[in-house]
Amino acid sequence: MTTYPLSAEDLEIQQRARAFVDEDLISWEEHAEANGGQIPDDERRKQRERAIELGLSAMNMPTELGGTGMTTLQQVLVSEQIGRVTNALGWCVFTPPAWAPAVVSEHQMQTWILPTIRGEIHECYAITEAGAGSDVDAIEATARRDGDEYVLNGEKMHVTSYNHASYCFFQAKIAGGPNEGAHAMFFVDKQTPGVRHVRDPTYTHTYPDTHAVVAFDDVRVPAATLVGEEGDGMAFTYEWFRYERLMIAARCCGAAERLIDEATAFAKQRVQFGRPIIENQAISHTLADSLTELWAARLMTYRLAENIDAGVDVKIQHGQCSMAKLYASEMAGRVADRAVQIFGGRGYMRENVAERFWREVRVDRIWEGTSEVQRNIIADQLQKRGTGALVG
Ligand SMILES: Cc1cc2nc3c(=O)[nH]c(=O)nc-3n(C[C@H](O)[C@H](O)[C@H](O)COP(=O)(O)OP(=O)(O)OC[C@H]3O[C@@H](n4cnc5c(N)ncnc54)[C@H](O)[C@@H]3O)c2cc1C
Repeated sequence: MTTYPLSAEDLEIQQRARAFVDEDLISWEEHAEANGGQIPDDERRKQRERAIELGLSAMNMPTELGGTGMTTLQQVLVSEQIGRVTNALGWCVFTPPAWAPAVVSEHQMQTWILPTIRGEIHECYAITEAGAGSDVDAIEATARRDGDEYVLNGEKMHVTSYNHASYCFFQAKIAGGPNEGAHAMFFVDKQTPGVRHVRDPTYTHTYPDTHAVVAFDDVRVPAATLVGEEGDGMAFTYEWFRYERLMIAARCCGAAERLIDEATAFAKQRVQFGRPIIENQAISHTLADSLTELWAARLMTYRLAENIDAGVDVKIQHGQCSMAKLYASEMAGRVADRAVQIFGGRGYMRENVAERFWREVRVDRIWEGTSEVQRNIIADQLQKRGTGALVG
């Protein structure tokens, strides 16, 4: 089923993920949509356990730490399949922070990372603030050293999965001392005194995960919760961005494939004016455009994953992750819009797959850096490195 050279192992992983989505997840989509993203607890537990059993969860973690140690390309193949279903269900496959094992201390590894890999606890990211979205450097949260502790202050928003998380990665600027103003990242347990849940705004999609506003009021944490050194915070965030941008591109390819399949099947059986609507070029040409754009996005995404596996320069990776995320997320938006149109009035109903994806893929042009920010990165890389280095 592939037009890209994949090994037998890669194909087996792709099929394993595809079968999981088809057999265990898709049938719950309408239920989840109608129930605020929720499905029965025992079913949710079953899906999470099945994802672990199939080796899909912690696929980005080395086997010696309990992960399944997939290559980047294999992770893309899995994420693409997961993208064929709503995130309300697909997020049962969890990927702990890929950047962490290389930089955390033994204490941090034992306390947070290993239990996260085992699926016992979950993380969330508290970086964005009301005044600092695209411009992460504008954060106002602070971390002031006080003896063996840091005192953290700030208010974060859009903290995804806060309701399911046990701890946050909290990004702040150092206040006082020789590294004043430098970015730093901390592990902060949710139950630490001073961590205050402010509210859960509602969003366009229907997920069981919240995107909370969370305040940190004089939160005292041991100095041992600092990840790496003072000044390292931004580097971890950039690494997280690169990983997520690639995986968003993969999920967008999966969403587009599902939409093209569903819209094509509908267009072949829906009869108006005495013939299937697909016999009108106004309909079939939109499917042709969608398929063509999906292929381009997929080739780009797979090739980027292989480049990362081959260890290409991280600056090139940065530019290519932005190109893949930009193109695939904009492509998925166009494909979803066309699919809604093909379904007609049905495409505007909450129970319809195209309507759901139309809402869900919209945020892929916003989170982990908006399309405008991706273009800024690409243009910057172009000026510094030239076309040959980036797409040659
Ligand atoms: C559902 C959801 C989940 C999220 N989850 C998390 C999370 O778990 N943790 C977390 O920390 N954050 C999270 N975010 C935050 C997300 O990363 C930001 O929303 C995103 O980076 C954009 O920031 P902003 O919303 O403040 O928009 P702004 O930065 O205010 O941008 C507004 C508009 O201006 C444009 N713009 C800004 N600067 C430029 C420029 N230089 N050139 C051209 N255009 C520009 C943007 O592209 C955008 O169109 C989440 C967001 C959403 C919607």
